[in-house]
Amino acid sequence: MSERPTNNTGRKGKVALIGAGPGDPELLTLKAVRHLNHADIILTDRLVNEAIIQNHAPQAVVIPVGKQCRKNKSTPQETINDLMVYHANAGRHVVRLKGGDVSVFSNIADELETLVEHDISYEIVPGITAAIGVAASLGVPLTARGLSRGIRLLTYYNNTAIDAGEWENLATTTDTLVFYMSGETCLQLAERLIAFGKKPGTPVLLAEQATTPLEVVTTSTLIDCLTEWKNRIFLSPALLIIGEVAALHNRYGWKQHLTHATEYFPEVIHAAAKPKFQSNKATLHITH
Ligand code: SAH
Repeated sequence: MSERPTNNTGRKGKVALIGAGPGDPELLTLKAVRHLNHADIILTDRLVNEAIIQNHAPQAVVIPVGKQCRKNKSTPQETINDLMVYHANAGRHVVRLKGGDVSVFSNIADELETLVEHDISYEIVPGITAAIGVAASLGVPLTARGLSRGIRLLTYYNNTAIDAGEWENLATTTDTLVFYMSGETCLQLAERLIAFGKKPGTPVLLAEQATTPLEVVTTSTLIDCLTEWKNRIFLSPALLIIGEVAALHNRYGWKQHLTHATEYFPEVIHAAAKPKFQSNKATLHITH
């Protein structure tokens, strides 16, 4: 392995890929805090609570590299990869901060491939994924005995290809189905599941901005949501839970909830970035 570059303190550059949890800034690991305390550069997603960086990494230069597909404002993955490589090769301690957990519906594989290709040291620090954050925040035991034998983490974008066999399997399983990035497609999803034989009375729950002060929860059933949610626009991020356990929220929910809210997470600021970095905060330039 080639000698890794160092900065002027003699430290070797490195990237820590860290899960920041679903929103509540207290849902962070101690390991994440340790890395944040020593970070020079933070490349952060949109769904990372800003308080996490303010509280644990006031010394770091922060580069927002969020993606917001709904608003067509995503930072290209290539730009994120370039930034990681550029700063690590300059000997900096780079933290790549992602919402939830790093290995669930994130482009970590692309980023790992880039780091391996460039022979840059890295570390992966897990975070609380949205499904687990929602389960705790709303009082939903995801594998309650007698109701569910497992959990499936899924997504249903408009363009997600699901073949008939898979639909049948989703319709017949007693596993809890958790759908990420599916707030806009939830009605189509409910229709398809019913069409493939899922019980129309199956409980469903949709959590918006879960674990934040603006958390909203809406419960229904597969059949009723088709009318009840027809004109609803769910705020991002939203997570859908389908299965018998979703009804347990009515019994075990432990928080007062809002009935509607405004956006909690900020919009993506810029879409593309090439760094020109000189060692202090004031001289970090992002050019398009
Ligand atoms: N890596 C993340 C998922 C990123 S994909 C994780 O492990 O949680 C983004 C999707 O995650 C959103 O569309 C939404 O479905 C879900 N999500 C993330 N944070 C959420 C939150 N606070 N409330 C509800 N859903 C959330």
